[in-house]
Amino acid sequence: MCKSGRLDAMAEALCNSASPVILYILSEVNNPGLAAKAKKVIHPVKTDDPDAVAKIVREINPDFVLIGPEEPLAAGVVDQLRKLGIPCVGPTQKLAQLETSKSFTRELLTKHGIPGNPKYRVFRALEGIEDYLRTMDSFVVKPDGLTGGKGVKVFGEHLHSVAEAVRYCTEIFESKQPAVVIEEKLDGEEFSFQSFFDGKHIVHTIPVQDHKRARNGDTGPNTGGMGSYSCPDHLLPFLTRDHVQQAGEINRLVGEAVSREIGEEYKGILYGGFMLTKDGLRVIEYNARFGDPEVMNVLPLMQADFVEVWKAIIDGTLDKLDVRFKRQATVCKYVVPKAYPQKSNGDEEIKLGAAMKVPGLGDRLRMYYAAIRASEGKLYLTGSRAVAFVGIANTLFEAEKIAEEAASLVEGPVFHRSDIGTAELIQKRVDHMRRIMGEPGRERAVG
Ligand code: AMP
Repeated sequence: MCKSGRLDAMAEALCNSASPVILYILSEVNNPGLAAKAKKVIHPVKTDDPDAVAKIVREINPDFVLIGPEEPLAAGVVDQLRKLGIPCVGPTQKLAQLETSKSFTRELLTKHGIPGNPKYRVFRALEGIEDYLRTMDSFVVKPDGLTGGKGVKVFGEHLHSVAEAVRYCTEIFESKQPAVVIEEKLDGEEFSFQSFFDGKHIVHTIPVQDHKRARNGDTGPNTGGMGSYSCPDHLLPFLTRDHVQQAGEINRLVGEAVSREIGEEYKGILYGGFMLTKDGLRVIEYNARFGDPEVMNVLPLMQADFVEVWKAIIDGTLDKLDVRFKRQATVCKYVVPKAYPQKSNGDEEIKLGAAMKVPGLGDRLRMYYAAIRASEGKLYLTGSRAVAFVGIANTLFEAEKIAEEAASLVEGPVFHRSDIGTAELIQKRVDHMRRIMGEPGRERAVG
């Protein structure tokens, strides 16, 4: 159950299993990628309606259900399916608070002594907010609940005074959010680290860096993610092995703490959003599912059977599996409609023919369909991120060239970020980190 390019990537990994997979997809959209992989695509389904989902799933009676995005987790779809005795990969509604409540997660880390919190305070009413803001040089204001990535406002970028911040907090409470989290504004480089967790055991994937801004050079509005990369050494150009180990350890501690706190085993993906700062690693957020696009950097490199991984999560036997990742680089680039991240009406035709002729489709290049609709042999945009290309190669810069060539061959009213994974942008990240650390010469050779 999912949507967007993340679904196509998960469907591909399931279909590549050695087990005979009969795949049913419940989705808000259909596209040629899904139609080619599934026995049946059931759509449109409101995947955040537990009763509607349960009715359909009861008829299919699958061995298990894999939940892709956050909305069904937030709505309690897992809880409902569990009542039917159908196992799910994905946390119950209470456990999913890790993603659906920022105050829950900050307080979980504090209570269980897990490192990574910035200086923060949770407010459940306006009282005291102004005084607290005046104690901070720089701050970030976060609504407690899900806002589709659009609720966080950063001082200096979206907010320019304490008065403006207080006005924003008033708006947040008026929109019925239960709390506001105010945090110190951190400076550093962000990365995502996704782990599988079965309630007791953890298996880590590899670190990935996403690009949130719409335009080249990290300009333009924030988006759901324009693309991402990973490196053959399973580090990032600004991260050491130590940092990655620390991120993994924080994911493990968080998985254990949330399971203890709620009294249920967390079974699914732990997605830690981290920032490396001059004072070390900080936790920016947790997600209770794979990232989109970050899943696309991880699954094509995974040298384990995806179905076996899901079974192990359900059975609590992840410790028995040997999950490795190919030592290759990946660069993912999303091709999006011209108006993105503004929702457009869609329905404009795009042509992928030339992009699909780039040599190596399958091995060196993966293509994942997202917000695309097929009709009478033609493809149409449906208004959001349309199609993702993932280059896979021995070096980052080779992987970038493969993804770039394919993305630039898409014909239609679209754009993509041509700078993701390039030497220039990577160097900018490394220089940023070096400036923050005040240490010249920390960078490693990249690629
Ligand atoms: P979140 O929804 O918590 O992931 O926040 C969205 C984005 O806001 C992050 O990806 C960061 O770029 C930025 N952000 C969140 N928290 C902080 C912070 N404490 N300091 C600086 N930037 C932040």
